[in-house]
Amino acid sequence: MDLFTKCENYSVAKDAQASGLYPYFIPLEESEGPLAKFNGKTLIMCGSNNYLGLTTHPEVQEAVHAAVSRFGSSCTGSRFLNGTLQLHEQLENELAEWLEKDRALVFSTGMQVNLGTISSLVGRKDYVILDKEDHASIVDGARLSYGDLIRYKHNDMDDLAGKLSRLSPDRGKLLVVDGLYSMEGDISPLPEIIPLCKKYGVRLMVDDAHAVGVLGKGKGTAAHFGLTEEVDLIMGTFSKSFASIGGYIAGDETVIDYVKHNARSLIFSASIPGPNAAAALAALHVMQREPERIERVNQIGATMRAELTRLGFDIGFSETPVIPIIIGDDTHTLQSWKLLFENGVFVNPVLSPAVPPGRQLLRTSYMATHTDEQIAQVLSIFEDVGKQLGLI
Ligand code: PMP
Repeated sequence: MDLFTKCENYSVAKDAQASGLYPYFIPLEESEGPLAKFNGKTLIMCGSNNYLGLTTHPEVQEAVHAAVSRFGSSCTGSRFLNGTLQLHEQLENELAEWLEKDRALVFSTGMQVNLGTISSLVGRKDYVILDKEDHASIVDGARLSYGDLIRYKHNDMDDLAGKLSRLSPDRGKLLVVDGLYSMEGDISPLPEIIPLCKKYGVRLMVDDAHAVGVLGKGKGTAAHFGLTEEVDLIMGTFSKSFASIGGYIAGDETVIDYVKHNARSLIFSASIPGPNAAAALAALHVMQREPERIERVNQIGATMRAELTRLGFDIGFSETPVIPIIIGDDTHTLQSWKLLFENGVFVNPVLSPAVPPGRQLLRTSYMATHTDEQIAQVLSIFEDVGKQLGLI
């Protein structure tokens, strides 16, 4: 059989397009953060990861312009050879200090952090243990490693304890969790996970892609619980609160040095361009100087959780400004996405396998720069659409 036969037979996307229920790859014409223009129409954006609204902050934009003039548009090489800028090192030093870890290492994307860190640390005789709802980049990092992969039920400490108790005490173990789960907005129970890690000799890595800038006064999940010292590795991305692209891993000097010289996704891929590093650094400075942005996004999250619940929506276990509206099947999820889009609100429909079957949902997320008027308008549109579709 020809390799491409599967492509010729692939009709899922075309069928969805034909039915008018295709929600992906919609090109954005303009964005000022809380408002975004699609197909000539301006919508309130409730589906980005721009939690602090810094992509349009003048200081971030000026830093980008200055860095284009100083470093040009690309590094044209990897960190390992010709692509390390002083700016990368400054960013690493400031991030490490802010996250209260020895060292940080900047990669080109968060995906590459997870691929490179997990696959370089977990060797043939080791275990990598994942929560079933961990982000795809963590799963792929684990698959790239030569270790044995163990998965436990989402946030289920009995299942985790049972699985850990059956592992060989002689083999190395890395447990990787999301700090703030990106689909359902719930938080990893680190105070329960850490004693289990200690008991079974497991090293802990937390993916704080969505928590940095949001939880723990912006420092993330470990800081939220006052447990920074107990978490071995903290991973983050620049593609959300940091208003850029890129990612980092932070931890003890010896571990970061090992990853730096062994992670293939770092060594064999070009580094983030100066303008992106400058944007992330400027965003860090704004975050540190303007904690009111972090308070604001959390306050909007609390209002939305309370109001959506009052209206009768099922918001799962969200404790953050990432709030799912659980719909439970593909067709209703796509219909509600479309009606919201037509009525002026952009959200993300999330279907299985990104969520377990029966948990299909609209992922909504909020920004510090949403105005009270926009939030009120969004709620009124949610209410209308919820009633029209019999969701509430
Ligand atoms: N981890 C999590 C939890 C994420 O949500 C994402 C991106 N959606 C990543 C890692 C990858 O980050 P990046 O976009 O920088 O590749």
